[in-house]
Amino acid sequence: MKIESNAVVTLLYRLADASTRQLIEDSREPMVYLHGGYGNTFPKLEAALEGQEKGFKTTLTLSPEDAFGARDESLLRTIPKSEFPPGVKVGGQLELRDDQGQPHAFTVAKIKGPQVLLDGNHPLAGKTLSLSVTVTGVRSATAEEIAHRHVHGEHGHHH
Ligand code: ZN
Repeated sequence: MKIESNAVVTLLYRLADASTRQLIEDSREPMVYLHGGYGNTFPKLEAALEGQEKGFKTTLTLSPEDAFGARDESLLRTIPKSEFPPGVKVGGQLELRDDQGQPHAFTVAKIKGPQVLLDGNHPLAGKTLSLSVTVTGVRSATAEEIAHRHVHGEHGHHH
């Protein structure tokens, strides 16, 4: 069947940094999503797959706006090391309140003497990405999956 609204699409993917060609992620398990603008994956990927079938392959270039957004320098923080939970290292994450008081994940960017520099941006924010996908399956969604706006079963939600 063709990929259309309310199709469940299974695919393998490789995600790389488009400028350095460095591999970011290689799907070990297939990814599955509900097609049709449910916000389960990048809109640009959905647009590329619309009307395609099992076996279709493509490589897309995703600008930051198509993927994880531009970097926001207001999400950089410096906190004293004394306020810091023990055992967190560069590259680790911790949750702090953002300016709106909402919990937000920050990555430890650097430890500089008594200070810790934190970055609240998504690690892939600001990057142009190269996404290669191969469609390995297409099926119709169940009524329950459509009502829940996500895929159930293998590689989907379990609840
Ligand atoms: Zn569900």
